[in-house]
Amino acid sequence: MKTKIIKINSDNIDSSAIAVAADILKRGGLVAIPTETVYGLAADALNTAALSKIYLAKGRPSDNPLIVHISDLDQLNIFAKDIPDVAYKLAKRFWPGPLTMIFKKQPSVNNIVTGGLNTVAIRMPAHPIARELIRFSQIPLAAPSANISGSPSPTTARHVINDMNGKIDAVIASQDCEVGIESTVLDLSGTVPSILRPGAVTYEQLLEFLPNLTIDKHVLNVAVSSDAPKSPGMKYKHYAPKASVTVVQGGKDNVFAAVDNLCIRLHSEKPCKIGVITCYEHEKQYKNADIIISSGRSLDEFAHNMFTLLRTLDEKGMDNIIIELSSAEGIGLALANRLYRAAGNNVIHVQEDN
Ligand code: AMP
Ligand code: MG
Repeated sequence: MKTKIIKINSDNIDSSAIAVAADILKRGGLVAIPTETVYGLAADALNTAALSKIYLAKGRPSDNPLIVHISDLDQLNIFAKDIPDVAYKLAKRFWPGPLTMIFKKQPSVNNIVTGGLNTVAIRMPAHPIARELIRFSQIPLAAPSANISGSPSPTTARHVINDMNGKIDAVIASQDCEVGIESTVLDLSGTVPSILRPGAVTYEQLLEFLPNLTIDKHVLNVAVSSDAPKSPGMKYKHYAPKASVTVVQGGKDNVFAAVDNLCIRLHSEKPCKIGVITCYEHEKQYKNADIIISSGRSLDEFAHNMFTLLRTLDEKGMDNIIIELSSAEGIGLALANRLYRAAGNNVIHVQEDN
C-alpha cells in the first residue's frame, strides 16, 4: 500500500488537509496523527474492521487494548459507564491533555478496543490537529502509539514514516511531539484509584484529587510475575532499541563513576560501540564512550528527547546504550518506567550522593 503523507502545520491548520484525513478514517483507513504525547495510529473506534488493521500494522498483541481519543466530554458516555465524580474534576483540570482515564465500559464498546477487558481507556488530547480531526470527522479515534510494537514510540513524523511506511493509509506529518512520552494511565474502574502507566500528569499532581491514589506495582517492576498486570501493555518488553540498554540510576557523582567503569569493562570484553545518554553536566566528561549525548537540562527535556535519542543511537550503530537517570519523582517516574522496559530491567542502582 502507498502511504500518503499529509503535511499540516499545527500553528496554521489547513482544513482541506484535515478533510482528506477525515475521509480516510470514515472509510475505515488508518491515519497516523500527531498528539502532544507521541504520534498515534488512529482508526474509527466504532469500526471493527478498521480496529483490526491497527493490530496488524503494528504487530501488536491482540490483548493489549487501545486508548479512545475524544474531543468533547459528551463523547465520554458513548464508551464509559459508572463514571465517578472525581473523573469530571480531573477532566476539568487535565483535559485536554496527557491523562488517560480507565472506566467500566459500556456494553456496546468493541472488544477489539478493550482487548477483551470490561474496562475502557479514554483521553482527550490537547494537540490542535488531533482535536480538529476528531471534531471535524465526528469520529472518536482509537489510537495506540504509531510505532512497530515493542520499539521506541514515535515523537517525530520521520519516526512514524520509518516504522509504518507502506503499512498504513496516511501519516499527518507535523511538528515534533511536545511532551515526548505517552499519557499517564489512571485506573478509576475499581475501588482504589491506581496509576497503571506514569506520564506527564504526575503522581504528585493526581494525589491532590485522589488521596488514596496507588501506583501499580508493575510500573517499576519489569520482571515477569505470576499475577497479570492490570495494564496488558506492561507485560511486554517495550520501547526497546536494537542496542542493548543499561540504565544507571542514583546520585550524579556515583552514576558518573559507574557509567565510566561500565564503558571500560564493555570495551575490554569485546570490540563494541557505546553510546551514553547523560545529563548535560557530564556531557564533556566521559572519555571511554564512543558517542555521548545530553538528555537535556531538565527531566521534562529528557522526556521530550528520550525516544529520539534511543532511535538516533540505533541509527548510529551503537551496540550498547548506557543511560544516566537521577530522580524517579515527578515525570522522572515516567522516564524510569519506560527506560526500565527499554533496558529489559537491566538497571544498576548506585547510592545517592552525600
Ligand atoms: P499505547 O496507546 O500504545 O500508548 O498503549 C495504551 C496503553 O494503555 C497500554 O499500556 C494499554 O495496556 C493501556 N490500556 C488501554 N486500555 C486499558 C484498559 N482498559 N485497562 C488497562 N490498561 C489499558
Ligand atoms: Mg505504545
